[in-house]
Amino acid sequence: MTEKLLTEQARRFDDIKANYYEICGNIEKASEKSGRKKEDITFLAATKTVEPEYINYAVSLGLDHIGENRVQELLSKYEKYDLENTDLQFIGHLQTNKVRQIVGKVSMIQSVDSIKLAQEISRQSVKNELVTDILLEVNIGREENKSGVFQEEVEELAAKIAELDGIKIKGLMSVPPICDTKQEIFKFFDKMYKLFIDISSKKSDNISMDYLSMGMSDDYQEAILSGANMIRVGSGLFGARIYR
Ligand SMILES: *Cc1c(COP(=O)(O)O)cnc(C)c1O
Repeated sequence: MTEKLLTEQARRFDDIKANYYEICGNIEKASEKSGRKKEDITFLAATKTVEPEYINYAVSLGLDHIGENRVQELLSKYEKYDLENTDLQFIGHLQTNKVRQIVGKVSMIQSVDSIKLAQEISRQSVKNELVTDILLEVNIGREENKSGVFQEEVEELAAKIAELDGIKIKGLMSVPPICDTKQEIFKFFDKMYKLFIDISSKKSDNISMDYLSMGMSDDYQEAILSGANMIRVGSGLFGARIYR
């Protein structure tokens, strides 16, 4: 490797390190403000477009959850992740015909928004004699062309999925619309929290509302203040994404 590349790499490691500690500090502050502890919040890094060497560097700092968006990318990086020290999840839109390729490789699929997708996850999990944890993805902003079910559909979908073998509902996930003001984003986060609490309070079999996954680089502190206990941060940790 040339010297220039080496310095670039070293600089990127330094940036990731500084970002990692800054985010951890912010998580601690926001969790305390919302009456919790930093341990109550799961910090998952969204690793799309990030090379394994940088992901593993963050893992060496203590990052213990990572999430990929695309099946192809996950498979191409799979052998290189330091999976002894971090847990791999799937957070992107998932096509039914690709489920087979990731069941058993990821600890949780955060983006389930149809019974058809859940049935395939169930089928593949049963076949491999395992149980796959999932989150239901909610389109809380009711945006067109966005993944996720509308809030009024969540309970019915949850009840149907709860009857399937090999799959366990562990909570809710959302990617709210891009907002101009903090006030607006709080409105969506609050709606998600209310839905999360509503469903938790019903205590249905095979549904355990352990995770409310919301908040990304620009708004993870607001999400924690609104009750999120899992955040998904990408560019805020690894720097701006470069799509190749
Ligand atoms: C990319 C991505 C994130 C992280 O986005 P940043 O703004 O880079 O923090 C979180 N969740 C999902 C589902 C993503 O695809």
